[in-house]
Formats: sequence, C-alpha cells, structure tokens
Amino acid sequence: MTTSFDVIVIGSGPGGYVTAIRASQLGLKTGIVERDRLGGICLNWGCIPTKALLRSAEVYRNAQHAADFGLSIENVKFDPEAVVKRSRGVAGRMEKGVQFLMKKNKITVIEGEARLEKGGAAPKVIVKGKDGKDAPYEAKHLILATGARAREIPAAGLKADGKRIWTYRDAMTPPSWPESLLVFGSGAIGIEFASFYAAFGVKTTVVELLDRVLPVEDEEISAFAKKRFEKEGLKILTSTEAKSLKATANGVEAVIAGERQGRDADGVACDRRCGHHRQYRKPRSRRRSA
Ligand SMILES: Cc1cc2nc3c(=O)[nH]c(=O)nc-3n(C[C@H](O)[C@H](O)[C@H](O)COP(=O)(O)OP(=O)(O)OC[C@H]3O[C@@H](n4cnc5c(N)ncnc54)[C@H](O)[C@@H]3O)c2cc1C
Repeated sequence: MTTSFDVIVIGSGPGGYVTAIRASQLGLKTGIVERDRLGGICLNWGCIPTKALLRSAEVYRNAQHAADFGLSIENVKFDPEAVVKRSRGVAGRMEKGVQFLMKKNKITVIEGEARLEKGGAAPKVIVKGKDGKDAPYEAKHLILATGARAREIPAAGLKADGKRIWTYRDAMTPPSWPESLLVFGSGAIGIEFASFYAAFGVKTTVVELLDRVLPVEDEEISAFAKKRFEKEGLKILTSTEAKSLKATANGVEAVIAGERQGRDADGVACDRRCGHHRQYRKPRSRRRSA
C-alpha cells in the first residue's frame, strides 16, 4: 500500500529537516526520508563534529602553553581515540536533537534510500529500507535536499581508499593516526583538518592551487591566516597542484607541481580542487533523476 503525504523531503541535513519542520508547521502532512543519520552531513560529519575536534586541538594547544597563563600543567598528552570519540558523541547528541524535533513537529521519519519513480499524477518515492525491501510513498510536493558528496581525484587516477587517501569522513574518524599528512585544498574544510592534525603533532602540508590560503576570504584574512597557520606548524604550498598520487607500501607518493614533495606522507586528505577540479563536493541531486 502506498502511503501519501502532502510533502516528502528527501535528505535530513539542515536543508531538509528545517524545511520539513516548516512544512509541518504550515499544516502539511510531512514525511522525511534519510538513508544515513538525521541531521545530514552538517550535524553528523561536517560542521559540528569538526568543531568538536578543533576544540580538542585548542584545549591541547592551550595546555601546552599553560605557563603563559600562569598555570602549570605537566605531561600534557593526548589520546586520538578519545578525541575522536568525543567528537562522535557530540554528533550523536545532535542527531538525537533532530529526532526530537521530528517527533515534536509530527513529521514521519522514513529510514532508507529514496529513489523517484517516473509516471503517475503525483511523484512517487520508493524507499529501500534497512531490510532491503522497497516501500512506495507519494506526495503532492517533493523536496530534494540530498546535499553533496565528496569528490575524488580522477585527474590523479586515484580514489579515496579510506586507509591512505581520505575523504572528510575518514579524516574525521581516522583508521590510524598518521605521522604526516598532505591536505589538498585550503578552503575552510581543508584548513580545519590540517590545523587539527598539526595541533597533535602530525607533519602536515597543505597544497593549494591558488596563490593564497582560504581563497574565498578577503586577501588580508588569507595573509593573516597563512602566517598564523605556519606559526602553528603547518607547511603551506600555494600556487601548487597535485599532479599524481601513488599508494606505496608505506604511504602515498605525491607529485606536486612537478616536484616530489610528498614522499614521506602517511596519508592524504582531499579537500577541494583535487587535480584540476575546483569543486570539492558535488551536489547529489544532479545525478539522481526524477
Ligand atoms: C568536514 C565538513 C565541515 C563543514 N563545516 C561547515 C561549517 O563549519 N559551517 C557550514 O556552514 N558548513 C559546513 N560544512 C558544509 C555543510 O555540512 C553543508 O553545507 C550542509 O550539510 C548542507 O546541508 P544539506 O541539508 O544541503 O545537505 P546534507 O547535510 O549533505 O544532507 C543531505 C542528506 O541527504 C541524505 N540523502 C542523500 N541522498 C539520499 C537518498 N537518495 N535517500 C535518502 N537520503 C538521502 C544524506 O544521507 C544526507 O544525510 C561542512 C562540510 C563538511 C564536509
């Protein structure tokens, strides 16, 4: 039997769940489909957990400079697993918050992966549930809020493998703690991860195609940020480009703007502008058709 709604929202990131709440507040019978975790990338794998990681990095840095504040903290250590666990815990609480909001606003949460079926008077949404079975839904209005996905490095001929070559998800829950890391792209996401790993002693190099870091910010901000990050121990290469990446037995060999600079990198985290591509995350809705 097909379940009907006034509105079905596909994707429960900040775009989707807020829209669903508003639709329900306006008196529309609303369903929201999510294949992963409520709250989408931002709450589970993006904005929020990265800030939790950065907070740990900040506390660690401050503790190392405690004497500057008239404090004495000896033997400051860190536990990578505990740092990541805290970040996952913060994300988990956010997801629970969205669950609560859905319930409070009487929105039906449909767990599974949605696809659209052509034909018929109203759009039909088929949701493959966690049990692998398809369930049909229809709605007068359909909202696609499916977000974006990580872009790999086709020009360099290498895909993220979750071990040596990471996307943002791997960088957030690292399979092992690297001794060195190359980060491609110095936008907000790349710089956040670079700064996080550098704070915990990972030899981190940022490769940026353009002539300054944080290129969407004002030039003064870029110049100030570069100095600051270098002081924190980041190596920053601007106007450079990743030509190729090769997984080796012990790490990843990167050819950067014709020079071999990444021979000793344990892993590579890819932010944006990998190879010749300027965009880091592709919109998902473009590759899904109605
Ligand atoms: C590491 C990182 C850090 C970031 N930090 C910040 C920050 O500090 N500040 C900021 O403003 N932005 C930040 N962003 C960007 C922010 O996460 C996105 O802008 C935001 O998540 C976009 O929201 P959205 O609702 O469009 O999509 P998303 O949050 O991507 O949510 C889309 C949801 O749709 C679901 N979905 C997709 N297809 C289907 C399907 N077929 N069926 C069912 N469900 C589906 C996905 O599982 C996902 O949960 C960051 C991103 C990353 C990766």
